[in-house]
Amino acid sequence: MKSQMMAAVLYGKEHLQVEPVAVPEIDRGDLLVRVQVALTCGTDVKVFQRGYHARMIVPPAVFGHELAGDVMARGADVTRFTLGERVVAANSAPCEECYFCQHGQQNLCEDILFNNGAYAEYIRIPARIVERNTYAIPEHVSYQDAALVEPLACVLRGLEETGIRPGDSVAIIGLGPIGLMFVRLAKVYGARVIAIGRRKTQLDRAAAMGADELISTAVLPQPAGMVRQLTHGRGADIAIEAVGNPETWHWAVDMVRRGGTVNFFGGCPNESRVSLDTSLLHYSEITCKASFHHTPAHIRKALDIVGNGDISAKDFVNREEPLTNLLEVMRHLMSHNGHLKTAIIP
Ligand SMILES: [Zn+2]
Ligand SMILES: [Zn+2]
Repeated sequence: MKSQMMAAVLYGKEHLQVEPVAVPEIDRGDLLVRVQVALTCGTDVKVFQRGYHARMIVPPAVFGHELAGDVMARGADVTRFTLGERVVAANSAPCEECYFCQHGQQNLCEDILFNNGAYAEYIRIPARIVERNTYAIPEHVSYQDAALVEPLACVLRGLEETGIRPGDSVAIIGLGPIGLMFVRLAKVYGARVIAIGRRKTQLDRAAAMGADELISTAVLPQPAGMVRQLTHGRGADIAIEAVGNPETWHWAVDMVRRGGTVNFFGGCPNESRVSLDTSLLHYSEITCKASFHHTPAHIRKALDIVGNGDISAKDFVNREEPLTNLLEVMRHLMSHNGHLKTAIIP
């Protein structure tokens, strides 16, 4: 086993370097995984742009969090996995002991452990993640499909939080990889999907994933009225905001029906504020929710969904690049909207 590997190190704002670093050492409960694929994610692009993420990563640090690979080494206490086994590990694990964990809100765990370093030849999976959030990849599932489990778990949780039922009309604002996952998953749940986006390529992708109605905001800059028209004047049963912008947060409230549910899934820039029409919320009994991150139960369920073939990487990943090109990939994703994910092959 070699002692050095290539890894992407994030140093700060728009500053990352792919360079030789020591292969991580592992403890008794840890795994060392040879990364076969790491997927880019909107969060990584945000972190690259800002130079940090208050909760997830403090530079200088190895970078990247959606991965699948093979077990290269395991600590003495690990019995669940074998050498060479294909595995997918989530980017965090909760403590299972704090107030939030005890209340089934492991995504809000006070002592959540985050793990980064997927853009590297090897990554250490710490014991807690090995125990609670790492799975063998079923034989028929590819590394890329498996690596989708982390973002999919967030989307799955976001959709479950809305109480979605078959036949519901679901308006989805924003058709990046996350919005498109909502489209696909809402169809799996038997909903009627109204997909709202600006770019034709994104609307085409939403249609390919089963969206029933498409609204282009390039043509219709205020889409709420059209959502009403498409729903007998009522508004959608569920509206999901997957952009992360105060204006589109407002749209979501404007296009949901009386008694409907809004999920503000997209995180806005720090210190953003929205002002909401209180009588609309009150007299129309609108439920407003937001969701962040995932729980171990959703990671497990997301792997099942991928295993069933309901979600597949071919719909969300449209480029493959070697690790050495990561800086260009990040710059590209930063300056172009409307992209899908890139598979980084270390
Ligand atoms: Zn992600
Ligand atoms: Zn906890």
